[in-house]
Amino acid sequence: MRVLVTGGAGFLGSHLCDLLVAQDHDVVCLDNFFTGRKSNISHLLGKTNFELVRHDVTDPFKFEVDRIYNLACPASPPHYQYNPIKTTKTSVMGAINCLGLAKRVKARVFQASTSEVYGDPAVHPQPESYWGNVNPIGVRSCYDEGKRCAETLFFDYHRENKVDIRVVRIFNTYGPRMHPNDGRVVSNFLVQALKGENLTIYGDGLQTRSFCYVDDLIEGFLRLMEQEEVVGPINIGNPGEFTMLELAEKTLQIVGGSSKIVHKSLPSDDPKQRKPDITLARKHLKWEPTVALEEGLKRTADHFRQELFD
Ligand code: NAD
Ligand code: UDP
Repeated sequence: MRVLVTGGAGFLGSHLCDLLVAQDHDVVCLDNFFTGRKSNISHLLGKTNFELVRHDVTDPFKFEVDRIYNLACPASPPHYQYNPIKTTKTSVMGAINCLGLAKRVKARVFQASTSEVYGDPAVHPQPESYWGNVNPIGVRSCYDEGKRCAETLFFDYHRENKVDIRVVRIFNTYGPRMHPNDGRVVSNFLVQALKGENLTIYGDGLQTRSFCYVDDLIEGFLRLMEQEEVVGPINIGNPGEFTMLELAEKTLQIVGGSSKIVHKSLPSDDPKQRKPDITLARKHLKWEPTVALEEGLKRTADHFRQELFD
């Protein structure tokens, strides 16, 4: 198949491109390199079934493709808050451009949505039927509401224009090729520990997150895209739930060294807890995560060790 991956030079997008290229699909990777890096996909550049296009999803584009994976959007809070208006435009106009293209060329189109649509959730764990608790005017809103609006557009194109959609809600995912200065908690803690710096916990560290290893997530993407039973939204994430204190302690055990834990102020609207209910993914995709946090952290630490010191 001919497959377009927007945001294909980013952390998740590059792993997805790897798998699609390995499966012999013709892959077009579209990216504006806001947070993506050429080094994430440089190993694919010589392949005859891989093309790289520098383009912004907020501007229309045309490709004759069978599948579109829409991943273009900065994902870490410091990056998406850097230019919040652009973040909303990327989610909303990117979705419109992908959906318009899917409609014209009759492609199946996949949206990388997020657990952030649940906001600071009042229901725990979060099933897809939960409508969320999102502040519409806070510092995280550009991302959360942008992604919520993108979901709305996907379902309206599906209802009104019969566009063939798939929508995944991704919970915190980590692994090799995360940007070392990305600002997300796993990369921050690992890089800090590897450099012998103090680990920065925001707030009391009792807030929880559920961390999915990238390989598990990408397998879930492919299963959702290529099955006919459901369009989503469907949660993909690892239900193992950890406080940030536990994550910091695990990181120190794995990396070793003499780093200490220090506390910094909690950013506003930081969700207190998050854990996916993956009943639907188990049922419809026969999917569940296979990589435990400790193993995934070891693999990611090895990656950062190489990137930072080799
Ligand atoms: P990332 O920042 O590494 O990747 C995003 C990619 O999109 C980058 O390559 C970036 O350059 C590109 N991009 C950003 N704005 C663009 C624009 N206007 N036009 C074209 N390209 C643009 O982040 P990631 O972790 O790989 O996230 C990928 C997708 O998955 C995002 O849509 C994100 O919202 C979603 N997601 C990720 C997570 C996670 O834990 N990693 C969780 C929930 C949702
Ligand atoms: N966090 C932290 N220290 C850091 C970076 C993040 O304690 O150096 C916390 C952050 O406040 C949040 C959690 O870790 O409670 C996850 O943050 P991340 O930015 O990775 O993702 P998100 O908040 O979008 O789930």
